[in-house]
Amino acid sequence: FDLERIGVHESVEQVFPPAELRDELADCPATVDVVGDDEIAACDAVITLEHREAFLEVDWVHSIQAGVDRFPLEAFDEHDVVLTNSTGIHDRSVGETVAGYLLAFARRLHTHVAAQQECRGGRPAWDEAFTLPGTTACVVGTGTLGGGVAEVLGALGVRITGVRRSADSLPGFEEMYATEDVLDAVADAEFVIVTLPLTDETNHLIAADVFDAMDEDAYFVNVGRGQVVDEPALVDALESGAIAGAALDVFEDEPLPKESPLWTMDEVIVTPHCAAFTEDYFHDIGELVRENVGRLESGDAFHNRVV
Ligand code: NDP
Repeated sequence: FDLERIGVHESVEQVFPPAELRDELADCPATVDVVGDDEIAACDAVITLEHREAFLEVDWVHSIQAGVDRFPLEAFDEHDVVLTNSTGIHDRSVGETVAGYLLAFARRLHTHVAAQQECRGGRPAWDEAFTLPGTTACVVGTGTLGGGVAEVLGALGVRITGVRRSADSLPGFEEMYATEDVLDAVADAEFVIVTLPLTDETNHLIAADVFDAMDEDAYFVNVGRGQVVDEPALVDALESGAIAGAALDVFEDEPLPKESPLWTMDEVIVTPHCAAFTEDYFHDIGELVRENVGRLESGDAFHNRVV
């Protein structure tokens, strides 16, 4: 298809100002404009966060997220719309966010920040804090996010195990388990970290049986997708002391509803789906889009093509 006009859909403003990406792509051999819903039809390609029905009329849609669960993949296929995603760019950002959660739990930083909000002094019990070397983190989902988490935590002395569909080994992971052995995988870990995409197979893959299999001193982290976890089962596990705590960036309902008990639990860290945020985000997206514009020109296959 001919690429004359690329629209940067205004929904990307939830992650960065759309005009930053427009300016980043100024050297593209196509016009690049920030577009609202009523201007989608006049574009050949759209870069977006959210989905719109009108995307089925353009030739190419690029998702600024790695997760494509919000797009109707079959409809894209039927309408011959190419869908590309942004996997591959979130390794360091999410890896550092997860390291931050683990350091907070180990060094008790979240409790000190909470106490500071109330100008409350006093030291924690002598045996609350620990250090990370010698602990094990089980990373469920060993792609870009899982690899980035393994690299950053590995550098902090954490032993890394992984769960993927096959149990084939990967660099950075000391042991690998297949998905059907997830209960064995989580049983010997101080931290269980979910970096899975949302698919039919991963929907509620993490449920009560996983929390029961975890050690009661272990912490749970989810930076993948909310629906991968049975959230009421997670709340039960936290309330009953079946696990020690959790750090959550993604939820079944986003933003996390005000009435959720997760907001006020002492050993729960809640972040608003921003584990991958960085001031360079628009720049990384620009590189992915420019790469595919080049491939389109030279007739090569799209990078990160989903549909
Ligand atoms: P990748 O495609 O690189 O990795 C996904 C991995 O999941 C694959 O390596 C795959 O491994 C594994 N996987 C898929 N299905 C299963 C399964 N049933 N059981 C076990 N493992 C499985 O994606 P990314 O790492 O870039 O992103 C992963 C997800 O994280 C995204 O889809 C998105 O939803 C979320 N995300 C969240 C962010 C945030 O801000 N919180 C930021 C970026 C992404 P294998 O093929 O070996 O099974």
